[in-house]
Amino acid sequence: MAELSLRKVKKVYDNTVVAVQAFDLEIADKEFIVLVGPSGCGKSTTLRMVAGLEEITEGEIYIGGKKVNNVPPKSRDIAMVFQNYALYPHMTVYDNIAYGLKLRKFPKRVIDQKVREAAEILDITELLKRKPKALSGGQRQRVAIGRAIVREPQVFLMDEPLSNLDAKLRNQMRAEIIKLRQKVNTTFIYVTHDQTEAMTLGDRIVIMKEGYVQQVGTPQEVFHHPANLFVAGFIGTPQMNFFDAELVRKGDQYAVRLGSAEVTLSPEKQARLLAGEVRSQEITLGVRPEHIVLTEDMNAVQATVDVSEMMGSAVHIHVSACGRDVVIVVPVSEEEAESGDLFLRGTQVHFTFRGSAAHVFDKETGRNLESREERAEAEPVETVSAEEPEEVTPQFMAAVEQPEDSVIPPVGDPFAEDEEA
Ligand code: ADP
Repeated sequence: MAELSLRKVKKVYDNTVVAVQAFDLEIADKEFIVLVGPSGCGKSTTLRMVAGLEEITEGEIYIGGKKVNNVPPKSRDIAMVFQNYALYPHMTVYDNIAYGLKLRKFPKRVIDQKVREAAEILDITELLKRKPKALSGGQRQRVAIGRAIVREPQVFLMDEPLSNLDAKLRNQMRAEIIKLRQKVNTTFIYVTHDQTEAMTLGDRIVIMKEGYVQQVGTPQEVFHHPANLFVAGFIGTPQMNFFDAELVRKGDQYAVRLGSAEVTLSPEKQARLLAGEVRSQEITLGVRPEHIVLTEDMNAVQATVDVSEMMGSAVHIHVSACGRDVVIVVPVSEEEAESGDLFLRGTQVHFTFRGSAAHVFDKETGRNLESREERAEAEPVETVSAEEPEEVTPQFMAAVEQPEDSVIPPVGDPFAEDEEA
């Protein structure tokens, strides 16, 4: 059993840099959680607190029901895979994978079996005799994952494991991690700044900004029901378009007004707005590029084409409309694609969207007006450029991987209310 619980976790570096605040999350056993957000939002710090590589300033972390605030990394039954692999250069792939088990004094026969099983899972059996310098980036990352797998950890932590790989390899390894997840039945926490990775890997995604959790949800939830403007803009590619618009309530009916166009919202959206007693107001309207449709209707929103990009099965047209730069994804047939110049610069077009595709955000706070839940607004966070965390070297890994030879320090009772961390 390895459910995790993070309760009001906070991290302040050097008494000044608030890296993570009010982090609350219950992670189910065998769940795949992805922490995602722009650089500096506190993802790695959160992961490192779970790993025990970073002290927790406030709050509590439980792994498998046991409070681990004061438990050293090596006794937490976790394994971590880093961006830079941290392999021992002088050891073969086999020895790199076996190392953690050797330290733990596993019998040779057991080590051999585990190494070969992991190599099989990761398709690196052929490489076992090689040294890391004779491997590609993708292969090195597999070895690093292999080293983590053999330890059969309760929790698998991955910190941007694919970010050193080129785009093609990254796609390949992403698929590998999905497969790995099916074979290795454990809890995963995966950190990335890449929303595509987050959307494809996570059972649930935790979107962070400036140390605060913005939303926790399944990929579908965060895509279709973003809690605020930040999440709406961060998840989905190309990015959601935003407009200054008006929400119009007539009795129990809601519509959005954009320029001369008025679009009635879908019944589900209307019901949620009604439940929240939302009034007519100025809003920020969000519509995803793939949900905008071109129309011959002259009453629809008028736009002028700036640039069009042929992407194969679709054209991405960048237009100016209502004082904003807007992207529209227009699917094209094979013949149209071949004929080339579809939307020339300066062409006038009209567009609309369905009422189910309109996202309405509070103009001031950016909160999604359909959601009832108020989230604490991010306080300004100190953004002094700080030292990067300690480099992950093989020596550092050894410190994490060393077996526990001393007595495990006293661990708090998870149910004791007022115990000191
Ligand atoms: P992310 O992983 O989302 O890029 P981090 O968790 O690494 O973000 O960093 C969050 C914030 O904490 C950033 O402002 C960063 O500069 C700061 N930070 C990270 N590590 C340290 C450290 N060792 N000392 C001081 N500040 C740090």
